[in-house]
Amino acid sequence: MRLVHLEMALQRLSGFPSPKPALEQYATPASVAARLLFHAAGEGAIEGKRVLDLGCGTGVLACGAALLDAASVAGIDCDRGALRAARENALSLDVEVALICGEVGPAFPVRPDSFNTVVMNPPFGAQQRHADRPFIDCALAAAPVVYGIFNAGSRPFVERYIEGRAGITAAVGGAFTIPRTFSFHRRDKMEIPVEILKLERDCPC
Ligand code: SAH
Repeated sequence: MRLVHLEMALQRLSGFPSPKPALEQYATPASVAARLLFHAAGEGAIEGKRVLDLGCGTGVLACGAALLDAASVAGIDCDRGALRAARENALSLDVEVALICGEVGPAFPVRPDSFNTVVMNPPFGAQQRHADRPFIDCALAAAPVVYGIFNAGSRPFVERYIEGRAGITAAVGGAFTIPRTFSFHRRDKMEIPVEILKLERDCPC
């Protein structure tokens, strides 16, 4: 599948039925999701792999990974409404995604290395400081390779947070165009610069 076709397929998916600000429910724009997935696929991290989408929301990344021939895809989110939308989205694309309702946090049970690759657009921590940290922890426990979307400028903080466990081995810039979603948004559209970071767990040897 070509990048443009993946982007077009993801563009047609439904967004959050009633976005919740506390959970930072912003769907990844199709262009950014497609770029992340294509980058990962080009590195052999999607096709034939077990892929996990942490904080999957409406399933944009999970569905995209399935379209790019992942062996299996699971998506975890704590919001049932978002998971219902994700199920509809997967059905509309005729792809299989296992959707699990769970709260990603320090107590979240992760079987070590149960996946090959994690893709995620976690909360940036705008509403709740450090909300991204349990996502990074769970992701690095679940798989040796993680492709995540972060606020632009987060790289040094992420680097320091994962020091001794993993490193950032690639970074790709991008931007979210977010329509006015919540009452505290002042403009009709906002451009949020983001970066896609690839985290790779340190070799234990
Ligand atoms: N990954 C999706 C959604 C990004 S928005 C996409 O790319 O479009 C962030 C998502 O994280 C939301 O769906 C929100 O419900 C979920 N989320 C926030 N905190 C969570 C937590 N502690 N556990 C599980 N999911 C959480």
